[in-house]
Amino acid sequence: MPWFKRADKGIQTPTEQKKETPDGLWYKCPSCKTVTSMAEHRKNLNTCVQCGHHDRIGSKEYFAILFDDNEFTELDENLTSGDPLNFVDSKPYPQRIAATQKATGLKDAVRTAYGKINGQNLTIACMDFAFIGGSMGSVVGEKIARAIDHARKTRTPFLMISKSGGARMMEAGFSLMQMAKTSAKLALLSEEKLPYISLLTDPTTGGVTASYAMLGDFNIAEPGALIGFAGPRVIKETIGKDLPKGFQSAEFVLEHGFLDFIIDRKQLKARLSELLSMVLLPEDVTVPAKNKKAEKAS
Ligand SMILES: [Zn+2]
Repeated sequence: MPWFKRADKGIQTPTEQKKETPDGLWYKCPSCKTVTSMAEHRKNLNTCVQCGHHDRIGSKEYFAILFDDNEFTELDENLTSGDPLNFVDSKPYPQRIAATQKATGLKDAVRTAYGKINGQNLTIACMDFAFIGGSMGSVVGEKIARAIDHARKTRTPFLMISKSGGARMMEAGFSLMQMAKTSAKLALLSEEKLPYISLLTDPTTGGVTASYAMLGDFNIAEPGALIGFAGPRVIKETIGKDLPKGFQSAEFVLEHGFLDFIIDRKQLKARLSELLSMVLLPEDVTVPAKNKKAEKAS
């Protein structure tokens, strides 16, 4: 008789009892499998020391990377989502929001703030994928719209860092309206000749790609980011054909003319401030004459 016999077939542990690998000392790159110390990985801004694979990070990390001395003022910090449709899937929407807020420490899938990068003023809206897949609901749309208003009021450039699975299903039509709202606000920003830089990070898909993420004066991306409208699996199933290698990667999208350039996270701050100093000529930052079209319309 063998000394060990499996009594039950298969793995019986329920998901919630499974032990997560502790956020410990070591980091193994999912791309090249190189193992480095966590401290080294963090020092490298969560990119692989060997192959440069970019790990997903959130608004907290991006703000720390970009704002001088991590000093910034957050806008509309406490805006939270309502439940306009009384939506219930596996649990009611308000419960899902509350649980996600507790788990992530975030209020919704975007944080907006202003501060200085290398001495230049900048307003930033940065999405958090950890909050319901970075989905765009009313709060995301409203916070971005208000951040753009803040950029217009203070005559500062605007940076959007997108990271999203698309529109938030639990808000259905209300989510889709955010596409029009944010796009209209960006048009006002453009009329006032303030630069808008859109940074697409892994992943940027769905309604976010179809609205503000692709409307930048500069559309830039992190290496290897998934960028698309529908995901590769959906497209593959629809057209019934295999997709080309690297389809929807930032590199593929760049090659097909949808991006201006790809930027390594380690150079992000330096390249952004260089870009801003090139587009922000002193005459650009004066208040323009009142918009004549708007006056006529009113
Ligand atoms: Zn690697």
